[in-house]
Amino acid sequence: MALRDVHHRPLKDLRISVTDRCNFRCTYCMPREHFGSDHDFLPRNELLSYEEITFVVDSLMNCGLQKVRLTGGEPLLRRDLTDLVSMLRQAGPELDLAMTTNGALLKNHAESLREAGLDRVTVSLDAVEPETFQAMADTEQVDPEAIFAGIKEAQRAGLTVKVNTVVRKGVNEDQILPLARICLQHNIPLRFIEYMDVGNTNAWKLDEVITGAEIRHIIEGEFGSLKPLPSKEASEVARRYTLESGYEFGFIESVSNPFCGDCSRARLSANGSIYTCLFSSSGNDLKGLLRFGASQNDVQEAIRAIWEQRKDRYSMERTELTGDENKVEMSFIGG
Ligand code: SAM
Ligand code: SF4
Ligand code: SF4
Repeated sequence: MALRDVHHRPLKDLRISVTDRCNFRCTYCMPREHFGSDHDFLPRNELLSYEEITFVVDSLMNCGLQKVRLTGGEPLLRRDLTDLVSMLRQAGPELDLAMTTNGALLKNHAESLREAGLDRVTVSLDAVEPETFQAMADTEQVDPEAIFAGIKEAQRAGLTVKVNTVVRKGVNEDQILPLARICLQHNIPLRFIEYMDVGNTNAWKLDEVITGAEIRHIIEGEFGSLKPLPSKEASEVARRYTLESGYEFGFIESVSNPFCGDCSRARLSANGSIYTCLFSSSGNDLKGLLRFGASQNDVQEAIRAIWEQRKDRYSMERTELTGDENKVEMSFIGG
């Protein structure tokens, strides 16, 4: 039976952070001054094992779970991730199985992930121009060409690919059109994400947000008018717009046009806690239960109890000065 929260929203989508580590230090997510060489990442024994993750997913299979997204941190840093994909595919032959990645390691893994049963991959890419890309991701080792090579390989392997771009005013707004041109040319759906006030480390300010409406205005200036499309499903995060040619852009407008009303997402952190909102300050530990020999029914009942108390509507209640110093980092609970 479906799980329903206080606002009658079902739990349909589980995002699983498989690691809190990353090979990038995107300034809006893991700024190096907070995630430097002295940062305490989770020790290995704190991470849920693939068996434990699959156990949790399996326990939700008969209560309306439809989508699982592997994320992090950078999911491709976790060793043998394809094993987890195979295990999840076995647990849920009908599950929509997706992954969000920065793409740096995708080229070498795309084919085996597809063979293991992954359906879709969302690649985060904030710039075409190498200098802006490297400044935004705070990396010297990787350039956009490597990310495009990963995207190409993922498409060749048969994965459905989308690109996600976070736009931060004064940093990469000049990359909106170059990214749009290249994605349009290769017919890869592109989604723009408004810069969000997740976590406590990115020193978010409202005046660094470029809204979806502002981005649409820039796009229309070059490509002609955009027409809004109806949502395919209520819980869809991106609002879709189409050019006359039929090419679609998505806009994830968590700041200017929030979508908590239909939010059906739960998050499982790398250390095994359930979070019911991206902006939560604390999670509910499942790892203890799992390591104490809980049955799938116990796990399902624990998640039901958490979900039934859920009232989160952070984006709809956000104020200009968010002020909450205790929000958990996105790299920890999974974007
Ligand atoms: N490392 C992977 C990646 O970058 O795709 C997966 C994890 S990352 C936390 C997931 C998504 O969150 C990425 O698309 C990233 O751009 C987005 N993200 C991180 N911090 C953000 C912020 N402050 N505002 C908006 N999106 C953010
Ligand atoms: Fe790493 Fe993804 Fe966060 Fe960038 S957005 S620092 S790639 S987890
Ligand atoms: Fe869902 Fe929380 Fe985001 Fe609202 S703010 S859409 S409740 S994750």
